[in-house]
Amino acid sequence: MKRRRRPLPPTRPLGRVASHFSRDGTPKNSYRTESEAKSAAQLAWTLNGVDLNAYRCDYCFAWHIGKRFRDD
Ligand SMILES: [Zn+2]
Repeated sequence: MKRRRRPLPPTRPLGRVASHFSRDGTPKNSYRTESEAKSAAQLAWTLNGVDLNAYRCDYCFAWHIGKRFRDD
């Protein structure tokens, strides 16, 4: 009788897809492996000083890099 399931926000059906798209609505670059994504993240850090995460996408099952998906 556990009720630990986090309810998904009903007004945001695309919520779990948000990690696949950039803020402007275009798909992000995708990487086939975690190590590719991490390399890209490291390159971005080296070149631009931006700290990015590599994460696996629930939408296309590839890897993307970016800030953790949030609303802002
Ligand atoms: Zn994706």
